Amino acid sequence: MDCDRCSDEAVMHAAYSGAHLCASHFCESVEKRVRRRVRRDGLVPREATPENPQTWVIGLSGGKDSVVLTQVLHETFAEDPRIELVALTIHEGIEGYRDKSLDACVELSEALGIRHEVVSYAEEFGIRMDEVVEDDPENMAACAYCGVFRRDVLSRYAEDLGANLLLTGHNLDDEAQTALMNFLEGDVGQIAKHFDASLGPLAERETQEAFVPRAKPLRDVPEKEVALYAHLRNLPAHITECPHASEAYRGEIQRLLYELEENHPGTRHSIMAGYEELSGVAASRYGEEDGVELQECPECGSTTSVTGDRCRKCTLLDALA
Ligand code: SF4
Repeated sequence: MDCDRCSDEAVMHAAYSGAHLCASHFCESVEKRVRRRVRRDGLVPREATPENPQTWVIGLSGGKDSVVLTQVLHETFAEDPRIELVALTIHEGIEGYRDKSLDACVELSEALGIRHEVVSYAEEFGIRMDEVVEDDPENMAACAYCGVFRRDVLSRYAEDLGANLLLTGHNLDDEAQTALMNFLEGDVGQIAKHFDASLGPLAERETQEAFVPRAKPLRDVPEKEVALYAHLRNLPAHITECPHASEAYRGEIQRLLYELEENHPGTRHSIMAGYEELSGVAASRYGEEDGVELQECPECGSTTSVTGDRCRKCTLLDALA
């Protein structure tokens, strides 16, 4: 089958749009979607100028999503003095996994010439995820610990690096899975949070000054297309799955979504269109009636929405001590 836009052979067919594209037009379409998302989400504010550049910190794990995001943003803003990109990699202490993906991060950031910072749980908290999984004092999945520590490191370092924006490589499948999980769990609070954390107007997100605003410019691109882009551009992405990956429920939702998308192309896009609208409505209701009060953790000083004495990270670190 030929490409819809030229006479080259198509390398992909997107059932949700009907498009057949060759390698070069496919790569162009991924880049266009990321740039359109940056524009639509107003990520480059008016006050960004060459004299007042914005610092964007990208969570670079070395997996295909964050590698593709870093590559596309670099190509978009390399000549734009208003935006400075910084890559931030977190080393969780997972033998044989993170070391390899860290190599991918170093290779990419060196090739692109962007600043790269590496932070480890060992240096930050004196723990390694391999040992956390062994101890497991709270009888939880590995990802439940890891997520708390990662959020803490990302927020603190984004702030220390003077970030105006913290960007992550969530793709369309990740976002549709999370949306469906929140629907099925009836978790309206999380649906509202989704808007506040990464969808609402940037100016409003900035006024919740406790956190650096988040953005997910890859969220219109399906996972398989991100993987194909990384392959076609020969990017140094690390593909192996973490040995502690344990989100069984997400796996079930992922399989369900694959099947739905196969039988009803466009399902992920329609889930997200509805979810984003609904999250805006939920956020305005929660904002008026159930606003969460933020406070400082008396132990580490980080901002937390937990009512009680300490933040979740400090509680977990105590349990692991
Ligand atoms: Fe951490 Fe879970 Fe990701 Fe592994 S899969 S790095 S344990 S969050």
